[in-house]
Amino acid sequence: MFIILFGAPGVGKGTQAALMVERNNLPHFSTGDALRQAKAEQTPDGLLAAQYADRGELAPDEVIMRIVEQTLNKPAFARGALLDGFPRNLYQAGELDTILAKRNQSVDRVINIKVDEAVITKRLIERGRPDDKPDIIANRFKVYRESTEPVLNYYDGRGVTCEVDGDADVETVYNRINANIQ
Ligand code: AMP
Repeated sequence: MFIILFGAPGVGKGTQAALMVERNNLPHFSTGDALRQAKAEQTPDGLLAAQYADRGELAPDEVIMRIVEQTLNKPAFARGALLDGFPRNLYQAGELDTILAKRNQSVDRVINIKVDEAVITKRLIERGRPDDKPDIIANRFKVYRESTEPVLNYYDGRGVTCEVDGDADVETVYNRINANIQ
């Protein structure tokens, strides 16, 4: 199964992904984690992407698609994946479809985790990652609304999307998500 965990920055995609991996044996792939790893390793793509993350902007699509292709080609991802933070715009969604279509696969579920913006801003500030500063957070929300949210409409027509209220404790949200992937 290919499942996309969708939602604004800070809705809990990473936390939920970790639980789902542990309990459902699905390989997890977070483009944000991959970029932070690449930055730590000081690869050209990692260093370039960090300049965008520091401003709350999206990294260039070619950087993202290189990482995505490399990752999805690994045997661990042959039969499915839990995608977290990808696709982030319509171009990436189209590219993902092309990659999966070549393998006779497709996106099975898009789980839209919804939490009020004021609640997630507070969560993000408490998380304290370097890109969790108020002005950068505000820009990440703007980018989310403008570039990422349209991806939901892209999948809506296929009947694969569902909405989960993410304003609850971790276990409750997990159960809500799980109810949508049976
Ligand atoms: P995240 O960990 O998903 O919040 O991502 C952190 C940062 O990495 C984002 O603010 C972007 O700069 C970059 N990033 C992660 N995933 C993507 C993506 N699919 N497309 C473009 N940029 C991304």
